[in-house]
Amino acid sequence: MTLAPRADFPLLERHPSLHYLDSAATAQKPRVVLDAIRAFYEEANANPRRGAYALSFEATQRYWSARETIARFLGAADPECLVFVRGTTEAMNLVAATAGREGISAGDNVVVTALEHHASFVTWQRATIEANAQFRIAELRPDLTLDVEHFASLLDARTKVVAVTHVSNALGLVSPVAELVALVRRRAPRAMIVLDGAQSAPHLPVQFDALGVDFYAFSGHKLGGPMGIGGLLGRKALLETMPPYQTGGDMIESVGDQVSTWNTVPFKFEAGTPNAADAVGLAAACEYLTGLGMARVRAHEVALLRALVPALTAIEGVTVHGPTDDAAFAMRSGAVSFELAEAHPHDLATILDQAGVAIRAGHHCCQPLMRRLGVSATARASVFVYSGEADVAALAGAVRHARAVFAGD
Ligand code: PLP
Repeated sequence: MTLAPRADFPLLERHPSLHYLDSAATAQKPRVVLDAIRAFYEEANANPRRGAYALSFEATQRYWSARETIARFLGAADPECLVFVRGTTEAMNLVAATAGREGISAGDNVVVTALEHHASFVTWQRATIEANAQFRIAELRPDLTLDVEHFASLLDARTKVVAVTHVSNALGLVSPVAELVALVRRRAPRAMIVLDGAQSAPHLPVQFDALGVDFYAFSGHKLGGPMGIGGLLGRKALLETMPPYQTGGDMIESVGDQVSTWNTVPFKFEAGTPNAADAVGLAAACEYLTGLGMARVRAHEVALLRALVPALTAIEGVTVHGPTDDAAFAMRSGAVSFELAEAHPHDLATILDQAGVAIRAGHHCCQPLMRRLGVSATARASVFVYSGEADVAALAGAVRHARAVFAGD
């Protein structure tokens, strides 16, 4: 059974035999999202926060209401803590280019993990190079979970930023955020904590206000919203002290001939005409998931993974990366990375595609992790609310077929 009817998703309805198992890359969009975007353009299209006429007020109101809905969905009581950006990548770059650039000096250090997506890893690597600071990478245990003791050993009074992925996109493992936050606050009191929520916002009930982090970055398209919209949730006090990210329309308070002053948060960070229609679409996706219930989304996906992982490991030659014992499912979410002996992941994905099974093959924008795994790529299957047992069975069947092909049976 799926949690959400496939019929809610026009693309899945159009392709009834498609087994879409690449939701970690981008999720399919429910009809309500497409309708909301269309309604914005048909009923309220005007430049928000610009015009002194009713249509512009309507656009402004829908844009603001989207911010309230999305902030509520992610457990942020104050919608002003939500800055709209293009997605996780831009959110991460925003923090690095503002708070990061001001806060990191020569001799300081930034701590990341070996699980980070390039959006975080490369952004902070570059920030440290520019600041002549140290870039420290917390390693993994042999079972590929984060080595928390090593992580702790990297923290000190000169740690200015700690960037951690909430859920690894390549392995689907949930980070022990509460434990990590407690360690950072104790050992690195001057550090800002940036949580990469690209893979947690779609799959876990998230309460930003209770996470104890300073920033949370996410992408709308991974939770059923449109591409090109996402957000940065930040602690208000920090956002207020940060310099602007980009300059331009609507992010100013006043512009003098020589100096300008900045608008309040979040507008200080949203220069130019906002992507209001997609913000409205993203809010519709959040409402859709709220209607399903994020606790049920989580339970559904864990149940699916409990079927998917053993279905894969039962196939001769298949290795699933990361822990697969019973206790592991409490820390598994969304995605499963695996390998078939003697088969390159790209070839495997091509064979699976012939059976209508769409998975991802590649380094998943995690080359540091791939190096540690000793591979250049893995195959990855990832689920969402419209995934069900039929997808798991199709995946297992197609991998069995691929194994026979590669073994020359
Ligand atoms: N972080 C993680 C964990 C991701 O999975 C992704 C996307 O795959 C990103 C960051 C980058 O997200 P986007 O490309 O939407 O900016």
